[in-house]
Amino acid sequence: MSLNPGPGRKPSRPSSRLPAHRCAAPGCSKTVPGEVLMCYPHWRLVPRALAREVTRSWLAFSKDPFDQDARAAYNRAREQAIAGVAEHLRTRP
Ligand SMILES: [Zn+2]
Repeated sequence: MSLNPGPGRKPSRPSSRLPAHRCAAPGCSKTVPGEVLMCYPHWRLVPRALAREVTRSWLAFSKDPFDQDARAAYNRAREQAIAGVAEHLRTRP
């Protein structure tokens, strides 16, 4: 991986190497920092246990990006969180 932290930014934590990206919630165009998955209003919609699992698996994965199990666990948790938010938005727009 060769992520450029950009001019003037010293990577102090692994997550600070990640570029900002769009909120993962469907239809949301908010830009969020690289280390978070969704903007706060959408992240709030993720059930707490699942949100914890996303954070836990993300931390494990960011510690060892080459650990395929950690990557799979994070991807699974993330997909579930996104699906949960999508379902929430569909039933309660
Ligand atoms: Zn959002």
